[in-house]
Amino acid sequence: MVEIKSLSLESLTACLLAAGEKPYRAKQVYQWLHKHLAESFAEMTNLPKHTRDYLNENFLLSQLKIEKMQESKIDGTQKYLFSLADGNFIETVLMKYKHGNSVCISSQVGCRMGCAFCASAIGGLVRQLSAGEMLEQVYAVTRKIKQRISHVVIMGSGEPLDNYDEVLNFIKMISDQNGLNISQRGITVSTCGLTPFIYRLADEGLQINLALSLHAPTDEKRLKLMPITKAYPLNEVLKACQYYFKKTGRRITFEYSLINNLNDSPEEAKELKKLLSAMPCHLNLIPLNKVKEYDFTASNGKNIQDFKKILEKYQINVTIRREMGSDIDGACGQLRSNANAAR
Ligand code: SAH
Repeated sequence: MVEIKSLSLESLTACLLAAGEKPYRAKQVYQWLHKHLAESFAEMTNLPKHTRDYLNENFLLSQLKIEKMQESKIDGTQKYLFSLADGNFIETVLMKYKHGNSVCISSQVGCRMGCAFCASAIGGLVRQLSAGEMLEQVYAVTRKIKQRISHVVIMGSGEPLDNYDEVLNFIKMISDQNGLNISQRGITVSTCGLTPFIYRLADEGLQINLALSLHAPTDEKRLKLMPITKAYPLNEVLKACQYYFKKTGRRITFEYSLINNLNDSPEEAKELKKLLSAMPCHLNLIPLNKVKEYDFTASNGKNIQDFKKILEKYQINVTIRREMGSDIDGACGQLRSNANAAR
């Protein structure tokens, strides 16, 4: 059966017209699903009974089940462990900022990019998530907190550009005025650097933000942390980022997780400057989250500050990411890997 939440308004319209329904029905159904966040066809009370029966018999309306939810006492951050219809686990995080509520969603179950420090790499890729399963992560959180979500970051488990079509559908649907209508400028896709897809994304005519996971200033060092560097070396991926900026006018964010004694020396800060000074960008320094399966540790506070100061001296636009929910379960992907281990 087709999962109805993954269908765009155009596809849903085609399905319902083919079933002999009136042209305006598809929009009603779509709004029930994506604006009113209906959890069953029975709720769609302005549809005739025969239409609801038809939907029930022909479409799947899948839910995510909250297996676990942890809330930070410090800043209200919520981490969700959801189970999918097939029993797989995924994680979603809600962060409450002054500028609004931001949800960090997963785009795949697991990941096949194999970054050396990332919990999602453990166990490799299990499967892709559908657009509906990505939407439902935002919807489930919205229902729970009964507040509007203004920002979405596709920075949870998975490599979004390795699930390009479904991620693109997700972005179009979450920003659709018949749905939650979240501004594209409030949506960020984070990638390890699948270069051909960065070019494709640049040409989609969207206003979303792109974040590139950099984590090292040279190919030699980056290759040790991120195998993707072999397929797409830094000069190629940075050229694609420049193209993205030229096409969209959206400034690129570079993410740099600081790992003790590995990528946090003044020399690396200088190399970073060489790499980035030609491009309007924002560098986000992230203290590494400890993953218990790996030996890497976070840089200490002084090294992080020194690293930042050097880059500031070079006039690179740099911030240290504020740690959210530091009192609840460690790094991203840890909730899922712990739950899988327990199973
Ligand atoms: N696949 C995408 C999104 C994944 S995670 C990407 O690579 O960008 C979002 C960010 O968290 C990435 O920058 C990723 O490299 C980083 N990350 C993963 N594990 C981490 C850890 N243990 N500590 C700090 N950052 C981590």
